[in-house]
Amino acid sequence: MTSEKIHHATCMCGEITLEAKGPANYVEYCHCKTCQQSAGSSYIIWCVFNKEKVTITKGEMSYYKSSAKLKRGFCGNCGSTMTVITEKCHDIALGVMDQPNDFKITQHIWTKRALDHFKLDDDLPKYDEDGPL
Ligand SMILES: [Zn+2]
Ligand SMILES: [Zn+2]
Repeated sequence: MTSEKIHHATCMCGEITLEAKGPANYVEYCHCKTCQQSAGSSYIIWCVFNKEKVTITKGEMSYYKSSAKLKRGFCGNCGSTMTVITEKCHDIALGVMDQPNDFKITQHIWTKRALDHFKLDDDLPKYDEDGPL
């Protein structure tokens, strides 16, 4: 029997919890403008899972459709940025993971929007826009 590791995530106020099964497909810095706006910072790191691997285990997520292809999930009470849902994937922000050090970052996406202060000098794969899905 194979048992997949279960990752847990929690918003700042604790009203919403999520779980994701198994390893993330990718763990990526996203430097796009809407992630910058959503985070109020330079980037968000997303843990990318196939949709069927992610379950909301407690609370009710609020959503904002930030483009035709994706919607962003956040806690309507505390405002924590939590997820991005695309056609195939359900990404969870690294910062809301209960054990963020369980994840190793694998790539950068939307590097054409990376801010000047961010030094893109590691050896990870870098994509100008969206990476592989
Ligand atoms: Zn919350
Ligand atoms: Zn982004």
